[in-house]
Amino acid sequence: MHVILLGPPGVGKGTQGILLANSMGWQRVVTGDLLRAAVNAGTDLGQQAQEYMSAGELVPDPLIIEMVKEKLSALPAGTGVLFDGFPRTEPQVTAFGVMLEALGLTIDRVVVLEASDEVLVARIAGRRSCPTCGSVYNSVLAPPQREGVCDNDGSQLVHRTDDTEATVQNRLTVYRRETEPLISYYEGSNAIVHHISGDQGVDEVQAEVLQALGVGL
Ligand SMILES: [Zn+2]
Repeated sequence: MHVILLGPPGVGKGTQGILLANSMGWQRVVTGDLLRAAVNAGTDLGQQAQEYMSAGELVPDPLIIEMVKEKLSALPAGTGVLFDGFPRTEPQVTAFGVMLEALGLTIDRVVVLEASDEVLVARIAGRRSCPTCGSVYNSVLAPPQREGVCDNDGSQLVHRTDDTEATVQNRLTVYRRETEPLISYYEGSNAIVHHISGDQGVDEVQAEVLQALGVGL
C-alpha cells in the first residue's frame, strides 16, 4: 500500500506519520530526512543538493524527486510506504506521478488531517521545546509536569522563533494555497481520500486513521 499523509502545520502530521508507519511496519518517506541523509552520506544527489544549500537556494524539485525514486527503488517489493508531507506542490505532484508510473507504483490512499486555522495557530503558538533532548510540549495540549521545565532532564523549555503567531499564519497561508488544492487532484484520481479531524487527541486521531485505512483494531 502507498499512502500520502497531508495536513497543515500543527495538525499532528509528524506524530501520526510515525505512529502509523511503526504500527504497520511501513517505510516512512520524509523528503527532509532523505535530503539530510543524502548530504551526510555524500551521495551523488547529496552533493548536488549541497551546492544549492550552500548557495542559500532551495533544492529543486527534480533533485528531491530523484532522491525519493532512489529510496523507493531500494525497498523490497511489496513494502508499504507512507509519504509524509510530500508531495506538497502541484509541480511535485506531476513529477511524482511520472516517477511512480515509471516504477509501476500507484498511490492507493491519501489521508488528510484537518483543523481550523484558529486551532492550529493556538497549538503552534503554545509549543515549547527542550534544547537538550528535543522533546516538544504544548502549554495547552501536552504541558510538562512543571511549567517551563523538561520532564526528562529539567532543562528550561524554549519557544522557537518560527513558532510565533505571525510565522504560523504565514505557513498556513502557504499550505492553503499550495498544498490544499492537491487534495482535489487526488480526489479525481484512483486514490481513496480520507479526511480526518486533527482537532482531537493523538490516540483518537490514530484510531480514526487506522480505521479509515481498514487496518483498525
Ligand atoms: Zn529535555
